[in-house]
Amino acid sequence: MDTFPKINSSEYSDLTNVIKWFILLRWVAACGVCITLIVIQTVFGYVLPYALLYTLNGILLLVNTGYAFYFFRLKNRNLLRREIQFFLHIQICSDYIILFLLLYFSGFLSNPFSYFFVFHIMLTSYIFASAVTYRYIFILTALFLLVTAGEYFSFLPHYALSAPDSGAYRELIPQRVIGLTSTLVISAYLTTTIKARLEEKGRKTEIELNKYKDLDNIKSNFILQVTHELRGPIAALKGYHEMILKGITGKISGHTSRTLLKADHRTANLLNIIDEMIDYAYMQSGSRLKNKTSALNAADSITYNLEMYEHMAQEKQINIRTTCPRDLYIKGSRDLLNIIIGNLLTNAIKYSPERSTIILNGEKMEHMAHILVKDQGMGMKADELDSIFEEFYRTRAAREIEKDGTGLGLPIVKRAVQSLDGKISVYSEEGRGSSFHVYLPLATKPQKE
Ligand code: ADP
Repeated sequence: MDTFPKINSSEYSDLTNVIKWFILLRWVAACGVCITLIVIQTVFGYVLPYALLYTLNGILLLVNTGYAFYFFRLKNRNLLRREIQFFLHIQICSDYIILFLLLYFSGFLSNPFSYFFVFHIMLTSYIFASAVTYRYIFILTALFLLVTAGEYFSFLPHYALSAPDSGAYRELIPQRVIGLTSTLVISAYLTTTIKARLEEKGRKTEIELNKYKDLDNIKSNFILQVTHELRGPIAALKGYHEMILKGITGKISGHTSRTLLKADHRTANLLNIIDEMIDYAYMQSGSRLKNKTSALNAADSITYNLEMYEHMAQEKQINIRTTCPRDLYIKGSRDLLNIIIGNLLTNAIKYSPERSTIILNGEKMEHMAHILVKDQGMGMKADELDSIFEEFYRTRAAREIEKDGTGLGLPIVKRAVQSLDGKISVYSEEGRGSSFHVYLPLATKPQKE
């Protein structure tokens, strides 16, 4: 028993449907040609090489039977992508050749059915790339010119579409009416069918997209659950380390203390990674984005983050200089703003040398709040700047300096900035430092704070 579900590609099934449709259209076309030949022969009495024309129509029927047999019986509608391409080309070419010959032996360009080439071009452009369609158009135009020149200079015989004993005007009316009406009806049919097919394709794409979004949400929720489960015990572990280090559980030797400090440092890094993953999963699942937005005081958020990461800066004796007007308000959610400032600030500290200076400023710039995080750290190469907002990307230099990074901080920041309708840009020079500029929408000062 086949336990694996069949892979369903909408593009693939669409092309096999097109083949089915083409075969059906060809049956209809062959019937149409047969009826037209009977009418112009018996009702209008045109003088044409009918035996040849009926033979051509017979060939069309035969060829289509061959296509139907190959497609439905031999291949059971199951063609490889390469075979589909080839099969469609063969069909289009045979259609052009048969239509061309039918028209040539029945008045050529004076035959109003010569407009039927338009439908073939419409169908060609529906399935093939525009370059292929233009190649077909080029070959057709060359053929038209050659045959017209041949007829004009009498190299080729001209099969005139005319009834005996009829005036030129009367002679043209029935052909033109039938030609024009059928052109209109068929173009309406083809355009509406193609439109319906495109709409159907759009609907299928939307359904598939929603399926992937659901899967992505399940994945994010899974990460969220796992990281939440991990966070508790690791945070507890860190707490125990701190208790032992503070001597609460009894006196410890200098050697144990040093080893425990290392363990505590690694546990803190692990907690950081877990926190970033939690933030990332939240951002992915979109739940953070639903947070209520309000007017946030930028100076307060900056101070909060400075206090949060002061210990990190102190360890490297980094001096953080900050200015921000008290009346700068940002429209956003507190969590998202802390994610933005927190990540940029910790990166600046991580990737800066000891005793350097970091600038963390907030200011009003035109109609936006501008937050600047500037460091004198290792900076980045120009070609690395394009990738730093991609998930899990870390520069080689960063991996050497800081082993425990995730490469998720900046993608999280970017998402947070975008969900607040803001913009982020970065300027950096290798070995000379980086500056991250965040622009967020301004808010008016709330009535009571
Ligand atoms: P992580 O810091 O965990 O590696 P991020 O997504 O925060 O992940 O950053 C991605 C990469 O961008 C970093 O690994 C680093 O190479 C580069 N980067 C970010 N901020 C800075 C900075 N201030 N100075 C130099 N490089 C930076």
